[in-house]
Amino acid sequence: MNDMKILVVEDDRPVMNLITTTLKIHEYEYIQAANGAQAISLCSSLNPDLILLDLGLPDIDGIEVIRNVRSWSSAVIIIISARDEDSDKIEALDAGADDYLTKPFSVDEMMARIRAAQRRMQYLNTKTDESAVFVNGPLSIDYASNLVTLNGNEIHLTSIEYKLLCLLAKNVGKVLTHTWIIDRIWGRGVYTDIVSLRVYMTSLRKKLKAYTGTDLIRTHIGIGYQMVRAENI
Ligand code: CA
Repeated sequence: MNDMKILVVEDDRPVMNLITTTLKIHEYEYIQAANGAQAISLCSSLNPDLILLDLGLPDIDGIEVIRNVRSWSSAVIIIISARDEDSDKIEALDAGADDYLTKPFSVDEMMARIRAAQRRMQYLNTKTDESAVFVNGPLSIDYASNLVTLNGNEIHLTSIEYKLLCLLAKNVGKVLTHTWIIDRIWGRGVYTDIVSLRVYMTSLRKKLKAYTGTDLIRTHIGIGYQMVRAENI
């Protein structure tokens, strides 16, 4: 049995069955909710570690469920939705979701996302304090001394590249939207568009890849960026 409790929120019976059968095969403990109100109530009483959430629910919108749950819970929220517009994904991620899958989805992909989230939680639980050194495969960031190394080689980043890297590292596994990143790097109200973010990101990734050939940063076209853990590549 996996040491993880998953809340599945889905009003479509066949999809619910597909998800829960898969979870059962992989020995995950799960709870089911068929609407938003039930999801919020089960979330507060049973405190799941991870939530697989459909956005189109019969009572309240899935986005409202994210906002409500996120205001007091740190559970990982993975969206599984038929809404495939970039704007829908961005809204869900900005409301506090961690990742998303678009229907129709493969159960293998779903399991891969769950395992990635599980590793991220284990990593967060073992992390001792903020000043610790972040390690992800060949990459190491020493927050106290602003030192970034790849396979032991120090790499030189500009101040913005370093800030971007730290933001991605501190949210490893999570998909960060363009707007969310821009707000945190440049602050609200400063005119910086997605094009310049892309320029900084390209330069950062070029430096990271130079030593290792591995790209730890994943692009979500039209949405944003995500640092993935090396073992998930
Ligand atoms: Ca639905």
